[in-house]
Amino acid sequence: MFTANKDYQKLPGSYLFSTIAKKVAAYTEAHPEEKIIRLGIGDVTKPLAPSIIKALHDAVDEMGDASTFRGYAPDLGYDFLRNTIVEKAFKSRGCEVYADEVFVSDGAKSDSGNIQEIFGANDRIAVCDPVYPVYVDTNVMSGRCGDYDEKTGLWSNVIYMPCTAENGFSPELPGEVPDIIYLCFPNNPTGATITKTELQKFVDYANEHKSVIIYDAAYEAYISEEDVPHSIYECEGARTCAIEIRSFSKNAGFTGTRLGYTVVPKDLKDQDGVSLRNLWARRHGTKFNGAPYIIQRAGEAVFSEIGQKETMEQIVYYMNNAKCILDGLKSAGYSVTGGVNAPYIWLKTPDNMTSWEFFDFLLDKAHVVGTPGSGFGPSGEGYFRLTAFGSYENTVEAIERIKKM
Ligand SMILES: *Cc1c(COP(=O)(O)O)cnc(C)c1O
Repeated sequence: MFTANKDYQKLPGSYLFSTIAKKVAAYTEAHPEEKIIRLGIGDVTKPLAPSIIKALHDAVDEMGDASTFRGYAPDLGYDFLRNTIVEKAFKSRGCEVYADEVFVSDGAKSDSGNIQEIFGANDRIAVCDPVYPVYVDTNVMSGRCGDYDEKTGLWSNVIYMPCTAENGFSPELPGEVPDIIYLCFPNNPTGATITKTELQKFVDYANEHKSVIIYDAAYEAYISEEDVPHSIYECEGARTCAIEIRSFSKNAGFTGTRLGYTVVPKDLKDQDGVSLRNLWARRHGTKFNGAPYIIQRAGEAVFSEIGQKETMEQIVYYMNNAKCILDGLKSAGYSVTGGVNAPYIWLKTPDNMTSWEFFDFLLDKAHVVGTPGSGFGPSGEGYFRLTAFGSYENTVEAIERIKKM
């Protein structure tokens, strides 16, 4: 008789965003007359830019022509895209990355969830707290996290790096030595960034202790300040200790189109000299049949001059919303961070409300939906995330309503 995976069953409750959806549905049913403004889920709202739509159309036409039709894509990605990524995303910033180290995929969520498969079953992970839930949950599914403590919200075999107001939401080096360190900057959910000096400390630490850093740079395109690294490969020594994950979702609106990539440098070897790049290539070849040709052409178009201009206009639009939220909440007396190099605003709940109390309060009084900070980890308790992905009009209205609460 079959058994269901025991590790999967350790995961507590339902996924954060399904709980939110249920609460909002119940509220809408009870108050059908209220206009709800959603500033909760991290999904883009602007349609794909014209230059990307054109690339998609052209690629579709090629697929309908016998002379240009394509079957299976190369499972590591087409050269035209991998070469473009190397030139435009890395070389232009002085980072040493080669095309055979770039693995094209259907997005950063799956890559950040799957990458743990190439590590030993007993390797210990370190994560920021609060954290994008995928990192911990996928390691739980692989039996790496020990047991869940309902009271503390912590896993017994995970090393946590709290990101709080005290450290400016930038993690300190882990107290115990982990094998795998997950970092995400600019950060979801806090919107915080890490300076190059701070990131260099993590790279030096990882090299010294033979740990690996998995660096999620999904929000790289939102960086507006100078001293904020766009890639971990801007740090010296990162090629021997870091994997970087990127996505086209938030910078170019590909959340429904699906495209991302992961860089695994050839210099990254385990203690026995085993190449992680080769293991990840083996994994891709076995479990993945490549991102669609038409989508990879669309990804290439993002890097074109016009593609960069058009997608940057979208980012500027979202970041104007972020500024509106940030300024509005500050003038209403809230304590807020983020929103400068990331489309997320992280606010302290007023009057010592818990994150979920504030969620209900905001839904009830302002009909605005956000995300409770505690859903991202225990250190998120007492915080709340708003996103800049709404329309400008809705964002302005939401802030007006919040000011009146
Ligand atoms: C949105 C998000 C992703 C997911 O990106 P996809 O490419 O759409 O899968 C990855 N990491 C973080 C931190 C995100 O917020």
